[in-house]
Amino acid sequence: MEQTLSIIKPDAVAKNVVGRIITRFEDAGLCVVAMRRMQLSEKDAGEFYAVHRARPFYKDLVSFMISGPVVVMVLQGAGAIAKNRELMGATNPRDAAPGTIRADFADSIDANAVHGSDGPETAAQEIAFFFPRREIN
Ligand code: GDP
Repeated sequence: MEQTLSIIKPDAVAKNVVGRIITRFEDAGLCVVAMRRMQLSEKDAGEFYAVHRARPFYKDLVSFMISGPVVVMVLQGAGAIAKNRELMGATNPRDAAPGTIRADFADSIDANAVHGSDGPETAAQEIAFFFPRREIN
């Protein structure tokens, strides 16, 4: 069993499609083992995306991530990291395969509906960033 961090971003929360996105995870055999709806602070978002600090889109990314509430989750299942990435689709929704979350719910490369950890190390770091062990059941 593997765990990964998923974030439903402010655009998808504002569209009220949280349940529809979670259903995609569940239908693919992933289980939500921790979940919280929250408003990220600028400090939270800046730290979470620190790896992108030098990129030109960093400021816009942080502003977008604090523009409204998000839903953060730990998804668990066999091959959860890759499975989640597959369900999400490409970063730019214009390149996302039909039927993926980003193809169906995202509007732009900024407002792209979901985040998902990209590997085992980042998954462990990102899960620990949001959830103490006792909140993962
Ligand atoms: P992800 O793992 O598919 O979310 O993509 P990355 O980790 O590469 O980038 C993190 C987030 O930064 C993406 O989800 C986008 O919202 C944003 N992002 C990445 N690349 C670009 C870009 O070229 N332009 C803009 N405006 N945003 C970007």
